[in-house]
Amino acid sequence: MEKPFPFGTPLSPSATKVMFLGSGELGKECIIALQRLGVETIAVDRYANAPGHQVAHRAHVINMADPDALRALIALEKPHLIVPEIEAIATEALLDIERQGIACVIPTARAVNLTMNREGIRRLAAETLGVPTSPYRFASSLEELRAAIDGGIGYPCIVKPVMSSSGKGQSKVDSAEAVESAWKYAAAGSRVNQGRVIVEGFVAFDYEITQLTVRALGHDGTPETYFCEPIGHIQVHGDYVESWQPQAMSASTKQRARDIARTVTDNLGGLGIFGVELFVRGDEVLFSEVSPRPHDTGMVTLCSQYQNEFELHVRAILGLPVDVSLRSPGASAVIYGQLEEKGIAFVGVEEALWVPQSDVRLFGKPESFMNRRMGVALATGRDTTVARERAKLVASSITPVRTRSKGQPR
Ligand code: AMP
Repeated sequence: MEKPFPFGTPLSPSATKVMFLGSGELGKECIIALQRLGVETIAVDRYANAPGHQVAHRAHVINMADPDALRALIALEKPHLIVPEIEAIATEALLDIERQGIACVIPTARAVNLTMNREGIRRLAAETLGVPTSPYRFASSLEELRAAIDGGIGYPCIVKPVMSSSGKGQSKVDSAEAVESAWKYAAAGSRVNQGRVIVEGFVAFDYEITQLTVRALGHDGTPETYFCEPIGHIQVHGDYVESWQPQAMSASTKQRARDIARTVTDNLGGLGIFGVELFVRGDEVLFSEVSPRPHDTGMVTLCSQYQNEFELHVRAILGLPVDVSLRSPGASAVIYGQLEEKGIAFVGVEEALWVPQSDVRLFGKPESFMNRRMGVALATGRDTTVARERAKLVASSITPVRTRSKGQPR
């Protein structure tokens, strides 16, 4: 489809159609933003009633890692744009679809393919683009892993499956005795049983940030790069628990972070938002990884920016102008399931929302797990210290509970 897009009528022959591969909380917010622009939305996930399914024009349940199932659904729905929201998809099918001009893959099929595997993106960033990263090696067996650590990475180090995200299968290794269990844990946590890991030198960073970077069309119709204020965050076991914006940084480290983000996203190309993850240690900024889509830590922008990361993504992919400016210092805190149960309820929401300048998103996931992200607390304040306190208070005031029947709290 040629840009600029005509903004048609959903569910009619003039509709602009966008398909989401993965329909979690990030996809749900993008779909809501698209609905506001009268775009027809198709939400796809591997399970029924995913958050994005609940707000899209149509919902499908397929195994997105199956290239034939993916091709068949794309042939049926004929979307103009395909927006991957997760990494576990048959990216080789997307490369074909883009090549054949069947649909436009956001930001590009190559970017989606490269970033779904830690090896692809790390080698591109460090070896092709010369961006600074932690020291790293790859290993396909326990022996190779031991050799990589003994041959230079040393202890402590971090072992991660190349096909994984959000800390799955990831462990910190402090001594030779712990290498075997890290290898086994990585094999169990890998998205596909690939038996390949990255081992990285442990970086004792001062703080880590997500540099949201938007590639959107400028006035002259060519892609320009826009940077949001840096987002600070805290991760536990490789998963985000809290984020805030802006993260205070010196002018030089902030510039270095933006330079790295520009180098990587220029190479990945296309239009859309990218979450560039960086470690900051003194004056040094190291690239960790990049998501070619909204980032979970970027949920803070639901309260802290005029246009949140979902609206920015949607505007960028439709060829519209973007505004990345900060509205207020803000923070987010994750609300976990804390229960293994279907159809849970949440109590304390009204008490939580008495916290000044606060808001909440409950994602509507049909099944809760102990550490599943079920919602997020949001708050603004005069600075990020106040905002963080408020967001944490909101999150801790909301309690998931079991239900007897028909949603009645027990
Ligand atoms: P990742 O899945 O690669 O984004 O890693 C998740 C989190 O684990 C990061 O956000 C960091 O908090 C931590 N982490 C990952 N790699 C390293 C490293 N090489 N050194 C220190 N911490 C790390």
